[in-house]
Amino acid sequence: MPADTDVEANLLAVRERVAAACQAAGRAPGEVEILLATKTVPADRVAAAVRAGARLMGENRVQELTEKDVELADLPCERHFIGHLQSNKVNQVLRYVSCIQSLDTVQIADRLQRRLETLGRTLDVLVQVNTSGEDSKFGVSAPEAPGLLREIAERDRLRLRGLMTIGLPSSDVETARPSYRTLREIQERVLDEHGIDLPELSMGMSGDLELAIAEGATMVRVGSAVFGHRPPPPGD
Ligand SMILES: *Cc1c(COP(=O)(O)O)cnc(C)c1O
Repeated sequence: MPADTDVEANLLAVRERVAAACQAAGRAPGEVEILLATKTVPADRVAAAVRAGARLMGENRVQELTEKDVELADLPCERHFIGHLQSNKVNQVLRYVSCIQSLDTVQIADRLQRRLETLGRTLDVLVQVNTSGEDSKFGVSAPEAPGLLREIAERDRLRLRGLMTIGLPSSDVETARPSYRTLREIQERVLDEHGIDLPELSMGMSGDLELAIAEGATMVRVGSAVFGHRPPPPGD
């Protein structure tokens, strides 16, 4: 694993890639935010990224949100949840995050709505769409997405901000393009047909953020390009 100084240098390199991709796509550099995917990354290295100027962190597991909280609580960063959310973890997740990017069922939306009513607050959410159609992926299917989005838009504690997807994993960067295009098509369709405005498109990772930016991403989620390669995921 690279040392903290590398985190800073790597973050700078990712910022430069984002800026270059925005320029190539004829977009303003400020249109795309970088969220760091921090799964398996120890809290001190996440903190180093915050000191280097990173402001958005994404965690996949509730346990890691909890474990890193003490070290991150006083730092100027926002935490998002980007992993699969189980309904029995909803209350816990709400303690730590300002946005859930992986909402994909009306059941979870209802649990969030009820809990947020109790807490007297609101929450930003993105709906995760399974644009690659793989069985192994979470997320609502593309055909079912408009229906789910309409349901979620009716829940007043949820501030529906946009869509998230994980493209088809492959060594060939081009493979994800149809997935990213599908996400943007859903965005356009629900605006045209249902008047639901979804400004955020969270898509693109370390290997293909340029492609995602060309296809309209407003947020890229970057892990290994900043923190180095991860050990294989622990069995949950
Ligand atoms: C790990 C992860 C990323 C980042 O992947 P890298 O290839 O390491 O950049 C993005 N999104 C989600 C949901 C992730 O779990």
